[in-house]
Amino acid sequence: MKVMKFGGSNLRSGKDFRSVAEIIKNETDKKIIVLSGVYGVTDILQRYLHNGKYAEKSINNLISKLQTIHLKILKNAIENNDLSIEVKTNIISRLKKLERLLHGVLYLKELTDRTKDLILSYGERLSVSIMVGTLRDLEINAVGLESDNIGVITDGNYGNASAILSTVETNLKKQINQIFKEEKTPIITGFFGCNKNGDTTLFGRNGSDYSASVIGYALDADLVEIWKDVNGFMTVDPGIIKDAKTIDYLSYEEAAELAYFGAKILHPRTIDPLIKKQIPLEIKNINNPDAQGSIINGKKNIGKKPVKSIAFTTDIACIKIHGGGIGYKPGVLGEIVSNISSKKINIKSVITSQTCITLLLDKKYLQQSYNILRSEKISTVENIEKNDEIALIAIVGEGINKQYGIAARAFNVVADKKINIEMISAGASNAAYYFIINQNQINDAIKEIHREFFNS
Ligand code: ASP
Ligand code: MG
Repeated sequence: MKVMKFGGSNLRSGKDFRSVAEIIKNETDKKIIVLSGVYGVTDILQRYLHNGKYAEKSINNLISKLQTIHLKILKNAIENNDLSIEVKTNIISRLKKLERLLHGVLYLKELTDRTKDLILSYGERLSVSIMVGTLRDLEINAVGLESDNIGVITDGNYGNASAILSTVETNLKKQINQIFKEEKTPIITGFFGCNKNGDTTLFGRNGSDYSASVIGYALDADLVEIWKDVNGFMTVDPGIIKDAKTIDYLSYEEAAELAYFGAKILHPRTIDPLIKKQIPLEIKNINNPDAQGSIINGKKNIGKKPVKSIAFTTDIACIKIHGGGIGYKPGVLGEIVSNISSKKINIKSVITSQTCITLLLDKKYLQQSYNILRSEKISTVENIEKNDEIALIAIVGEGINKQYGIAARAFNVVADKKINIEMISAGASNAAYYFIINQNQINDAIKEIHREFFNS
């Protein structure tokens, strides 16, 4: 049994829905489908909420925009008239509910995290409804399921929840097996689950990748396929270097490191449920469905050339906490970390020395974390600095820490370009080296490092 996940980039038009439905139809294995919203829909909802200009008129505009997008897709995806009417009615009634929710926000003048997650989940609900209709049009007996209605239970962290895997497993197994017994194909909304009270909680942007592996875990899938519009992980961002190549095989650790820092191709936590049950993941390209994309599994291929990929992110910032003896005084690190994590801010990495603790975090959390640390009086802390003009580069490959000279080669080529390395982290993972440079120099650094490891 396999999980097939289709993302927003596969779902832009009625024709796309039709192509995806054909792929599903041609798959002879038992399968369960996870879907994200129509391309751009979550962005539209997020922009509306972010704008904060809640008014009757803007609600009407938003709803009619969403209605136009979905009805146009539906018209081109479904030929049968009765089916078309059925799905249209469903879409209109869902949009009516969304409209009421938005009015609630307007009149209460309050947008809670709970309501925000619920509103942002609508893209997936609408696209599942269209896909079910499209599949039925092709005589596939599809059933649409909403993940917050079938027991995809999470830790309740709004906006960035994680699934409670054992509970999801118990909740899903019976239901889905029953659906399989009836020879139906389940189509499930990605991107969210719900807390123990049934309130919708999102897995974070691009969360439907993670949904696919959570569902794969719950049902002991043999394979999780994530469909994109590229072949998979690449040796480097092809936007910077044109002759970047697709990577055929990656270990779980390699893929997790790449997804965690940098590569935008997978939601950062996608690998986690898969490792636990050693379920392989394959990235598939909708524009080239027969080609093999990146395959990610438990095999560690340590070859003569261990470097597999160079990733980077500029979405990162650091806080340096200085103080004499800070590195060996018991409890200081714990206090700092717990002050920040109690506000649900994730620290990506910590580097410590005798006199300084450096925290790496997402740029968006920098100011808030800085304020928290400034307001807490932690003994021995003398001075706190923040910097958001940094970029992080990751050199990823199993075994890079076992072969001498890899870090030195990277450092030499950037030094030749007069690029200063501000920080290094090696050894924390067996599959990655990280270092920090000034973000203005990122393109040059990436080009040099990529040339060193892939063209020389
Ligand atoms: N629709 C959601 C997003 O745009 C989830 C996803 O695409 O995976 O973030
Ligand atoms: Mg997406």
